[in-house]
Amino acid sequence: MSYFPEHLNKLIGELMKLPGIGPKSAQRLAFHLLNVDRAQVVELAKAMVYAKDRTRACKRCFNITDQELCPICRDPRRDDKQICVVQDTRDVVALEKTREFKGYYHVLQGAISPMEGIGPEHLRIKELLQRVQANPQLEEVILATNPNIEGEATAMYVARLLKPLGLRVTRIAHGLPVGGDLEYVDEVTLSRALEGRREI
Ligand code: ZN
Repeated sequence: MSYFPEHLNKLIGELMKLPGIGPKSAQRLAFHLLNVDRAQVVELAKAMVYAKDRTRACKRCFNITDQELCPICRDPRRDDKQICVVQDTRDVVALEKTREFKGYYHVLQGAISPMEGIGPEHLRIKELLQRVQANPQLEEVILATNPNIEGEATAMYVARLLKPLGLRVTRIAHGLPVGGDLEYVDEVTLSRALEGRREI
């Protein structure tokens, strides 16, 4: 038997679907929402729907954007000889903060993970190959997937496809915590990893 009214249980249930939110956090958030001004709750709900509706993948690199191309792809001052391949938009943000990389990005939207049923066909690998083939000025593809099993497997898979195309394929250096997520790495470590990349 539940101690809460049905609509409150519904709210707690929805909050629990969010990543990292267990039953206790969900209850705490739900009660917080009940206690704040109605206007604030409406703002939050509106912001969620608005962000969801307005956000889409960049047509070229699959970074998130509210336009056809993301701000990085729209910037003609970037170096078109390099593409840095990452798993996630948050990795683009992490790498941009280092100010080390001046090229363009390609967001795979995940990593190969047989455990989760994610194969190469679920990622933007085909689009990467098309992009590489359509850009003869390109000299190097840097594989900056996460330093864990899925990230390594993805880097190896992509490298195998790119190598025959005759460009430099590099992997960011280790020294990154193994098993970690790129987005949580500090800027200095990430800068060094980028500098110390090696050919694969
Ligand atoms: Zn883009």
